[in-house]
Order: sequence, then structure tokens, then C-alpha cells
Amino acid sequence: MPEGDSLRRAAARLQVLAGQRVAVETPHPRAAAKGLAERLDGRTLESVEAVGKNLLLRFEGGLVLRSHLRMTGRWRVEAKGARRTGTPWLVLRGDAYEAVLWNGPVLELAKDGGRLSHLGPDILDSPPEFDEMIERLRGAPSAREVGDALLDQRLVAGIGNVWKAEALWDARVSPWRTLAEVADIELRATLDSAHRRMRASVEGARPLRHVYRRAGRACHRCGGIIRSQPQGEAARVAYWCPGCQRGGRQPAA
Ligand SMILES: [Zn+2]
Repeated sequence: MPEGDSLRRAAARLQVLAGQRVAVETPHPRAAAKGLAERLDGRTLESVEAVGKNLLLRFEGGLVLRSHLRMTGRWRVEAKGARRTGTPWLVLRGDAYEAVLWNGPVLELAKDGGRLSHLGPDILDSPPEFDEMIERLRGAPSAREVGDALLDQRLVAGIGNVWKAEALWDARVSPWRTLAEVADIELRATLDSAHRRMRASVEGARPLRHVYRRAGRACHRCGGIIRSQPQGEAARVAYWCPGCQRGGRQPAA
């Protein structure tokens, strides 16, 4: 059983990733089934802390990943791209290092002092509560841009930057339109697309990406040139096709 001090040592090692935006992979099928990579990939890892027998990894947006190591679990920090054999549960890849969790029997998004109770309905729920999500989006300031609002975990929980971009493209909604400029039916189409794509990803499919990390390339739908630009307070990069996702205050090219 990892003792408290070994957990604290693991937390100390993981500090090299704190403050960095991390790429998240869940190579082990049991971890992949939890949909963690879909929710956490590309978020900033804000802090890592040992609390009791748990490691708490706090990500931007109020998401907290709880890792309990039981008898067998082990966190390692390695140089980015280090070779390894076997199938780890979780890989958090930062600028220069990656943290790798082996045999992580307990791995879940956890409540953090009730903060999760402020989260909106989960996009991965089946069926998802689209009405409640739309109600929350309508309760947000109507001048807020939809691409920014979809990442606010208090409105809808679980949509990551990749799926936000892809879902908006799918629904032909520009991320730069304000909530006031987007109809309920468009919000629902966007949320439905995010749900379907994320569920497919959790189940192991590799949905084709149409805009994410395709800036400068041609839109699969209209041939327009995909653009990218940081958006919102957190400056998450938005990807969109100005040809078929029109409207909103799009930044000058
Ligand atoms: Zn297009």
C-alpha cells in the first residue's frame, strides 16, 4: 500500500507539470472507458496535491481527477517521449515531461469541496440533459461568445477544446457568435454533435477531425481555409471555417 509520504513524493514529482496545458491519453482500455481524455485533454493542470490516500489533480474549469493507488498503482514522471513497454492507465504530457500512471485502479473525476455540484450537466451522460444545458447557456451573459461559453463547466460539463471546435463546425455555428446570436436549435445541434462524437471517442472510434489543428488547410465541407485564434479569458484556441461558420465578430485574418 503506498503510504502517505510516497503519495506526497508522487505529488512533488508531478509538480513539473503544474501550470502547463497537458495532452491527456488513456492507453489502458479500462481507463479509456471512463472518458477522461475526452474531458481533460488540452486543459491546464492547475495543481497536484496529496490528500489522504489520494492524489488530486486539479484542471482548469473546476475538474478534479482523483487517483487512488491501492496496492499496485504507481505514478512515474519521465522525459517527454520516453520509450516504455506495457499499457499505462493515463499519460499526462506537458512541455518537457510526462506523468504516467501504471495500474491505477481508482481514477475518477471527483467532487472537490462541493465544486462539482456547480458543474452543468455532463455532456457524456446518456441521454444528456440538453434542455438543462440550454437553460444554463441562456442564463449566461448573452454577449458571451458561444465558443467560449461551451467550455464553461458551470454551463455544460465535459466538453473539451477539440470537441467544442468539431461540434461547432458540425452545426455550422461560428465560435465568434454571441449567445444572443445563436438559436436554441443551433445550440442543441452543437451539443448533440459534441455528445455523439465524444461518446464515439470513448467507445474507441477515432472520429475524423474537420477543423481542430487544421488551420490553413481546406474545409472538408466548403473548401474554405480553416482559421485558428485564441478566444476568451483562458485564450483557448478556436478553430473554425469562415466559409461555412459565418457570423460573429471574427478576428481579422
Ligand atoms: Zn467550410
